[in-house]
Amino acid sequence: MIKVEGLTKYYGDFLAVDGISFEVKSGEIVGLLGPNGAGKTTTLRILTGYLLPSSGNVKIKDYDIYNDLREIKRIIGYLPEQTPLYTDMLVYDYLSFVGDSRGIEGESLLQELKRVADICKIKDVMHKPISELSKGYRQRVGLAAALLGDPEILVLDEPTSGLDPNQIIEIREIIKEIGKEKTVLFSTHILSEAEATCDRLVIIHKGKIVADGKTEDLKRGGERFSVDVELEGVKGADAVDEFKKVKGVEEVEIKQENGSVRLGVYGESDFRREVYSLIKSKDWQLLEFVRKSETLEEIFRKLTRE
Ligand code: ATP
Repeated sequence: MIKVEGLTKYYGDFLAVDGISFEVKSGEIVGLLGPNGAGKTTTLRILTGYLLPSSGNVKIKDYDIYNDLREIKRIIGYLPEQTPLYTDMLVYDYLSFVGDSRGIEGESLLQELKRVADICKIKDVMHKPISELSKGYRQRVGLAAALLGDPEILVLDEPTSGLDPNQIIEIREIIKEIGKEKTVLFSTHILSEAEATCDRLVIIHKGKIVADGKTEDLKRGGERFSVDVELEGVKGADAVDEFKKVKGVEEVEIKQENGSVRLGVYGESDFRREVYSLIKSKDWQLLEFVRKSETLEEIFRKLTRE
C-alpha cells in the first residue's frame, strides 16, 4: 500500500532522512517511532506529498510522489503535527469547509459530516467554536477532517502529543477503530503508545531505520539475559568496569546513582553466579539482584541512544 524506497532528505547541508526504506501493507496499523528530531515529520510530509525528497521514492498503491500528487492527496487523510484548525469557526462550519474543498457537496457532505462525527465522537460539539474546545476535542476534530472523503490511508503525525492520559486513550481507541478498515501510519515518540496500537513498528533514529518488525518479534529479538543490581560501597563507573570483565556480560549501564548505584547488566547467557562472586569478592553491599526480561522500552532506548 505504501512503499518507501531509499528516501533521503537534506535541509541545506543537514541530512534529516538518510536513505530509509519500509513498507506498510493494506490494513496494517504501523507506528513510526523515534525520539525528537529522528526525522518522523519529514518522512510523513514527504509521503503525503507536502515536501519533496532529495532522493528516493514513495509509492502509494500505484501512484508515486513525483507524478501523481493529486491522487495521493485524495487517497490519504493526513493529520499534521500542528492541527491546522481555524479556531474562530464552528466545528460544523470548519468540517463543511474542508469537505467542500475536497469536492464533497450537498447530501454527500451532510452524510460525511455525520459519519466522521460519529467515528470521532464529536457530535455534541459540532456547533461550538473550535476556540472553546479542549485539546483532546480539537485533536478529534483534526482527525475528523482527515477522515472526510473516506480516504483509504490515514497518516497521523503525533496524534496524541500534548494530550492528557484520558484524552490519549480516547484518541488511541479511535485510531484502533479506524484501523479496522483502513491502513494507518502514525508517528509517535511514546513507546507505550505504539505498542498499544500498532501491528508493526518502524523505529527511526537520526534519519535511519534501526528496527522494523512486528511488536512481538522486536521484543523477542531483544530477549537477552538481563539483571538489575543495586549496590552500595562502590562508584558506578568502577562497578561498570568490573562487571564488564565478567564472562558472559556484554553490556552494563548505570540506571541510577544516588547514594547507591543501580546497574542494568546484559549478556547472551546466564552470568548470575559469576556476577555474584564478583560482588562478594569486592565486599560491595548488595541491596538488590533481580533477573529481568528486557522490555520494549529498554530495546527502544538502546536503539536510539546517542
Ligand atoms: P519531532 O518529534 O521533534 O517533531 P521528528 O522525528 O518529527 O521530531 P523532524 O521534524 O522530521 O523530526 O526533523 C528531523 C531533523 O530535521 C531535526 O533535526 C530538525 O531540526 C530538522 N529539520 C526539520 N525541518 C527542518 C527545516 N525546515 N529546516 C532545517 N532543518 C529542519
